Order: sequence, then structure tokens, then C-alpha cells
Amino acid sequence: MNAHFSFQQHVPAWQTELGNAFTNSRDLLEFLNLPTENLPLSKQAARNFVMRVPIGYAECMEKGNPDDPLLRQVLPVNDELNSYPGFINDPVGDLDATKHGGIIHKYHGRVLLITTGGCAIHCRYCFRRNFPYPDLQMNKTRLFQALQYIRDNSEVSEVILSGGDPLLLSDNRLGLLVQKISQFQHIKRIRIHTRIPIVLPSRITTQLLENLTRIPQQIIMVLHCNHSNEISQAVVNACSMLKQHRIHLFNQTVLLKGVNDRIDQLVQLSEKLFASNVLPYYLHLLDKANGTGHFEVSETTAISIMGGIKAKLPGYLVPKLVRETPGEASKTGVCC
Ligand SMILES: *Cc1c(COP(=O)(O)O)cnc(C)c1O
Ligand code: SF4
Repeated sequence: MNAHFSFQQHVPAWQTELGNAFTNSRDLLEFLNLPTENLPLSKQAARNFVMRVPIGYAECMEKGNPDDPLLRQVLPVNDELNSYPGFINDPVGDLDATKHGGIIHKYHGRVLLITTGGCAIHCRYCFRRNFPYPDLQMNKTRLFQALQYIRDNSEVSEVILSGGDPLLLSDNRLGLLVQKISQFQHIKRIRIHTRIPIVLPSRITTQLLENLTRIPQQIIMVLHCNHSNEISQAVVNACSMLKQHRIHLFNQTVLLKGVNDRIDQLVQLSEKLFASNVLPYYLHLLDKANGTGHFEVSETTAISIMGGIKAKLPGYLVPKLVRETPGEASKTGVCC
């Protein structure tokens, strides 16, 4: 075996797939057989927040459709340069709340830990799009501080790994992190907030799941899926592996204009998620981050959409409509 070959063996397939992700609009549009001329592409928007789209996600888009709901979530466009009243850089006050090694402690009994600034996909509507990402990276000092914080706050029973996307960490780093958190008696659950099972399902490997589930605590994953077209066979398979490892699966969706602001689509999404053993959890109103105003669905429309969903689905398939308001003791329920 030569050195080159043995090196290649150590690069997991998901990392190769991620390395090959689309990072410019032209390549993606060519892949989708779409002419670039008639689209409101923006180089400035792409500079503000670079494009990143794994190939598997692009394969879920409809070829030749400029209004594809998945394409709309990832394509840098002119609308992002418009400013809208009330849209700011840190709408949920997370930068203020970040202390103690990347811990955000806003709510009783649970803390959120920023593990990395990176994501497998860049969602144009993201409230973290304006954050200084490199500043959020986990390192030894941070980890030490975060663990100290968890140790010293015995009323905390759940640690939420977030980011960015925590599943971008290597199997070893993630395994070690989970192991260290699990040593505290007062921690009953570890939760992972991730979009990766949806946008890069090849990341869900047996090795990863064995590393994650070696602990006595229950593990919860809150996925982030916005449209039923995102649920490919590969995603279904990934969810099935997660379920086999006794990970509890929930989903949060962001309500987005031109993507999923229709009753029939959200009904279909809930049905398809449940068929993959995932329960709908939250339907979020958009966080008002600079550059995302064109995705906003008004509260009135959202409430009327919720009414439509409730009329069609059993209660356990109806997500809770919420918004995040800085300073409140939980996500704020909206409506009915
Ligand atoms: C959303 C969020 C949570 C989790 O809230 P749940 O209602 O338990 O899902 C925890 N901490 C922070 C900082 C959050 O933003
Ligand atoms: S995966 Fe989540 S954190 Fe990352 S860009 Fe998308 S919405 Fe934002």
C-alpha cells in the first residue's frame, strides 16, 4: 500500500462530498440546466455570505425550474442587499449571550453550546449569516470553559450542541465532546441541532453513531428540514440509522416565503417526516436578520396557514408556530 492510497482511505466519503459542494452560482445553475441571464444573481450577496450547496442537495432540485423551493434557499440574489425595517445583524441577541466558552444560557434547564461556526450548506435566510464565524470555533480553552460552566450549573439537565452544524466535527472530536459532557450526573439529555442529516446524509455513518451513543444519557436530534423535496431516499436511510441507534428525532422548519408558505406543502412535509420517524417540533417565524427580508411571511399569513394545517393533520403532526424574542424565557408561541 503506498502512502497516497493510505491517505485517501482516511478521508471519509462525506468530507469528499462536502469538498465538492457547489460554491458558485454558475456551476449550480449549469447543473440545473438554467440560463443565468434571467436570474437576479448577486455577486455582492455571495461575497457577504458565500454560497455552499452539497451536490446531493442540488440533486433534490427540479431541473429547469428557476423558482425551485430548494434553489431559493441557497442562491445568492439581489434581494439580499435590500434593507428592511427591523432587520438587524443579531436579531435574537445571541452574540450578547455567548460567554463561557461558547455557551448560550437563555432558558431554564438547558444550555446551548456553539461547537463550530461551519455548516454543510449555507441557507440564505439564516440568522447566523452575519456572525463572525471564525470567532465561534471550539478550541481547548473554550471547551474547558464550557465544561466548567456545565459542571457549575447543576440545574442544567440538557446540553444542546449547535453551531453552525455540530455534525461537521470529526467522529473523534464529537465523540470526545459528548463523552465529556456525559460525565456530569445532572445532565440527563444531550441534544444535537443539525441540518446535516437532510443536506449531507452521507455524514450519518455507523462509526459516528457508535461514537455518539456510547453514553448513558438519552440523545435527541432536532433536524432542520423545510420542504418535502429535501427528503431523498438517502435522507430516509440516514433517519432510519439514527432511529436504529435509539436517537429521538424531531424537526424544525423555518416558514419561508416562496419556499414552504403553503398549507399543502407543510402538510406533506409533516407526513413525509413522520414516515421517516421524525416528529414535527417547531415552525419558526423568520428571525429578522439583515439580508433575509424577502423570505418573511407575515404573522397573519402564518396564523392562517397554521389553521389550515391543523384542519388536515392529527395533532402530533402539527408543529408549534413560534418566534424568538430576545429576553423571553422560551421561544414565544404565536397564535391560536
Ligand atoms: C432555541 C433555543 C433552545 C432550545 O429551546 P427549546 O424550546 O427547548 O427547543 C435553547 N437555548 C437557546 C439559546 C435557544 O436559542
Ligand atoms: S444549516 Fe442552520 S446554521 Fe447553517 S446556514 Fe443553514 S440555517 Fe444557518
